[in-house]
Amino acid sequence: MSESNTLHWQNLSREHLLPPFSDYRELNAKGARIITRASGVYLWDSKGNRILDGMAGLWCVNIGYGREELVEAAARQMRELPYYNLFFQTAHTPALELANAIAGIAPIGMDHVFFTGSGSESNDTVLRMVRHYWMTKGQPQKQVIIGRWNGYHGSTVAGASLGGMKAMHEQAGLLISGIEHIDQPYWYGEGDDLDPDEFGIRVAEQLEQKILEVGEDKVAAFIAEPIQGAGGVIIPPDSYWPKIREILARYDILFIADEVICGFGRTGEWFGSDYYGNAPDLMPIAKGLTSGYLPMGGVIVRDKVVQVLNEGGEFYHGFTYSGHPVAAAVALENLRILKEENILERVKAKTSPYLQKRWRELADHPLVGEVRGLGMLGALELVKDKQTRERFPGAIGMRCREHCLDNGLVMRAVGDTMIISPPLVINEEEIDELVTKARLCLDLTA
Ligand code: PLP
Repeated sequence: MSESNTLHWQNLSREHLLPPFSDYRELNAKGARIITRASGVYLWDSKGNRILDGMAGLWCVNIGYGREELVEAAARQMRELPYYNLFFQTAHTPALELANAIAGIAPIGMDHVFFTGSGSESNDTVLRMVRHYWMTKGQPQKQVIIGRWNGYHGSTVAGASLGGMKAMHEQAGLLISGIEHIDQPYWYGEGDDLDPDEFGIRVAEQLEQKILEVGEDKVAAFIAEPIQGAGGVIIPPDSYWPKIREILARYDILFIADEVICGFGRTGEWFGSDYYGNAPDLMPIAKGLTSGYLPMGGVIVRDKVVQVLNEGGEFYHGFTYSGHPVAAAVALENLRILKEENILERVKAKTSPYLQKRWRELADHPLVGEVRGLGMLGALELVKDKQTRERFPGAIGMRCREHCLDNGLVMRAVGDTMIISPPLVINEEEIDELVTKARLCLDLTA
C-alpha cells in the first residue's frame, strides 16, 4: 500500500472515527497508524512495515493471528445458525458446548457460565449478580464491593466504577455508589523502604481494615485481577495472595477474580487464580476466550453461588449477544487449539522461562529501574535514577512506545512503565527479536 493510501485512511480517521482511549487532537495532528493485516505474532501497517505485536492486540490474541481453523469455525456456524439468543428459556448448541468446555478447565466447583460480549459487560454482570445473590440470601444490606486503586475492570459505568483508574472516575463523574477501593500491591512504586513481602502483607491488610470500616454485614464482594494488567503489570509480592485468602476466609464475602487478562494461559495456567492457588467465587473472562477473533466474554460462577441464584427468581440481566453462536463456535475452536497444541505446557516449560530470562537482561539498561515479569507478561520501570527511583519529567513512556512502533515492535506504555503481553505462541527466535528491539528503543529513548 502506498503513502497516498495511508493518507487516505488517516483522513477517514480524522473525518469519521472516534477511537477509544485517544486524545483526538493529538491523534488528528499525527495521523493514525493503519494496521492492514496480521499473521502469527506480526502485524503489517499500510506502509508495509512489519511489526512484532508484543501486546497480542490488547492482551488477547493468545493463539496468534491468522489461524484458519477459527475462520472456518465462524463460517460453518454462520451458515448453520448465525444468530440466536439465550433469552426466554432457549439455548443453542455452540453456547452449551462452550459452557461445558469452560467448566472442564475452570477451577473445581465452578461449573456454570453467564455469557457476555466483553470484559466490561462481564464486570457489569458480576456487580449485578453479587448484589442479586445477597438480596436472594436475605441480606440486602450487603451491597458494597471493594476493588483496588489502579485496577482495571472495563469501561462501562460499572466496570469503571469497580476499577480504580482515577482519571476515568474524574472524567465520567457518574460512578455507581457502594464501591470502595484499597491500595494496589505495587511494591516498586509504592513500597518505600519495605521489603516486598512486608509490603505485600501491609497492603493486603487494607482489605480487612476496609471490611471493618464499611461493616462486614455491608460488604458483598472483593474484586481484583490476579495480576493487574492495564495498571502496569503489577505482580504482587509472594506474601500478598496468601494474606488476602486468609482475610477472605474470615469474612462472609464473595471473591471476584477478574481473569479477563490472566485467563486462558497468560500465566501458563488456565487461570491466574490457578497460578496463585486462589479459589474465587466469580471469574469475569473475555479476551483470550476467543483469542480476540470475535468479541465474547463471560462470568464463571461457583456452584454455591448458582444454588442461591436458582432461588432468586428471574435474573433481570443479559445482552442480545450473550453466548453469540458464532463467537461461541470460535471460542470452542480456540480452546481446542490451546489444548491440542499443548500451548500452555509449552509456555510453562519453554517460552515463558526463556522470555523471562531474556527480559531480565534489560535490567542493566541505564533507563530501567526494575524489570518484572511472570508467564507471558513483562514490565520495565523507566527511571532517571536507579538508586532513588526518581522519574523523568514528561511522558518518557509514550516516547519509548513511539520508538518501538517506528522500529517494528508494539510495547505499551502505562505512564513510565513499558509493558508486554505477547501471543502465547511466540517462539524463542521471536522473543530474541522482541528483546533486541526493546533494548534498541530504550537506547533511542535515553
Ligand atoms: N477486566 C480486565 C482485567 C481488563 O484488562 C479489561 C480490558 O483490558 C477489561 C476487564 C475490560 O474488557 P473489555 O475491554 O473487553 O470490555
